Amino acid sequence: MFGLMQKQSLLISHLIEFAERHHGDGEVVSRRVEGDIHRYTWADVARRSRQVANTLDAAKLAFSDRVATLAWNGYRHLELYFGVSGSGRVLHTINPRLHPDQIAWIANHAEDQVLCFDMTFLPIIQAIHSKCNTIQQWVAMCDGDKLPADTGIPNLVSYEAWIGKQSSDYQWPSFDENSASSMCYTSGTTGNPKAALYSHRSTILHAYAAALPDVMGISARDAILPVVPMFHVNAWGIPYSAALTGAKLVFPGSGMDGKSIYELIEGEGVTYAAGVPTVWQMLLTHMKSNGLKFSSLNRTVIGGSACPPAMIQTFMDDYGVEVLHAWGMTELSPLGTLCTLKNKHLKLSEPEQMKIRLKQGRAIFGVDMKIVDDAGKDLPHDGKAYGDLLVKGPWVVAEYFKGEGGSPLVKDSHGVEWFPTGDVATIDTDGYMQITDRSKDVIKSGGEWISSIDIENIAVAHPSVLMAACIGVKHPKWDERPIVAVVKKPDAHVSREELLGFYEGKTAKWQIPDDVVFVDSIPIGATGKMLKTKLREQLKDYVLPNL
Ligand code: AMP
Repeated sequence: MFGLMQKQSLLISHLIEFAERHHGDGEVVSRRVEGDIHRYTWADVARRSRQVANTLDAAKLAFSDRVATLAWNGYRHLELYFGVSGSGRVLHTINPRLHPDQIAWIANHAEDQVLCFDMTFLPIIQAIHSKCNTIQQWVAMCDGDKLPADTGIPNLVSYEAWIGKQSSDYQWPSFDENSASSMCYTSGTTGNPKAALYSHRSTILHAYAAALPDVMGISARDAILPVVPMFHVNAWGIPYSAALTGAKLVFPGSGMDGKSIYELIEGEGVTYAAGVPTVWQMLLTHMKSNGLKFSSLNRTVIGGSACPPAMIQTFMDDYGVEVLHAWGMTELSPLGTLCTLKNKHLKLSEPEQMKIRLKQGRAIFGVDMKIVDDAGKDLPHDGKAYGDLLVKGPWVVAEYFKGEGGSPLVKDSHGVEWFPTGDVATIDTDGYMQITDRSKDVIKSGGEWISSIDIENIAVAHPSVLMAACIGVKHPKWDERPIVAVVKKPDAHVSREELLGFYEGKTAKWQIPDDVVFVDSIPIGATGKMLKTKLREQLKDYVLPNL
């Protein structure tokens, strides 16, 4: 017997229809590439998304055709989120920080038909347009009068001219909720990038879950600044959850430096911000050196890589901002866990609570997770045993676009399929997951594992250290030993010996790195994470002391 409830597909167009009808006057504010501030409402987003949809119909794009973007966080990008997916096409967000050849490769692999780009990226488009075989229309996301006459790019039109002639009347189509809605290629540190292909259903379920109080806790009372880019895993789904809840959205455009972010937070009364640790490091450095405080910000979600304890402490103690540590992946749309306390933790002392906040958090309903040993056997959730982290759920990939790389899933002893995350983690009795490492970054010393994240966290707790990356170096006796590459804060002085001494009492003696290597910078990848593969290459001639 079936239930007798209405069968309505979960579609992205419903989000924007809902936003227009129920909080149409909610604000969406963007710092534009030109530098000025653009301000309009959710009703305007809805109206212009329908113009985008009409434009794609007029261009005769078929259902599921890909429309790519190479763009910062901004209002036109938001209109494409709803107009492209809502009309049944697939929004393909491309990371502009990738090498131009890789961008061309990705556009060809996805068979993009249209590519919309911010003017910042005009030089990239000029370099790659002749290599992109499937793109019929290039769209510069600017006003008509801002489009230079002689770009050398055929079939180029300004975004405003492209959608401007179209009606804002549009009946959003209804279709199967499992239809593809958007796609994002993984960073591809090894081999060619592979794409996660999200569906309307997975996106809506993720948007619901992301808004929950113990997840991102997004509400109509928030003004949210997603510093996390719309070109990487849909800005953690914030554009969708904001439409669903009626939150005000504040987009930073290309201004990711500490000063620009701070000004936007203060100017727009931002209550809530989301980003990777490297961005927050820049913000905190700017605030500290200028003696600034926040007047509205009260929460921030930090994820994408491990958030150093020192950063959580600074946000909370110096600025009164609650940090929510999050873990996720491109393959998970991206949210997997968020760290919030339970009722029973409220009576704990601050240091006890801090021990919990440092973990990556509890699984969100919709993501099931477990840890297994090398043989695939389940490990206990006791906070001590660590193993490969497996996940499953309706917003976790089943396979990559075009079946690239074969099935990524593994079967457990009950025949249930799981996605292996490539992360090594513990899960405690309360369900809090803690990432020990990326499986390929763990340091294996004398048959024991050393967490590179733990070593880095201790280093960045030192007042003179800006950034730290720990890698394993070959050792004849121990197999591998950890060393830590350190970037000092401007004008800070700290010696190798002092830093090594700083580890005393903070970790087991055998886990203390064998050496500190001072470097000017640590290579950062396209999604703001440290590129340890590159660091290992840079230090390939390094020899451990006392060998
Ligand atoms: P990506 O798909 O490029 O977003 O990368 C996902 C990977 O980033 C995960 O598998 C983790 O290795 C890492 N990651 C994301 N969030 C965290 C976090 N809070 N702590 C540690 N690692 C993280």
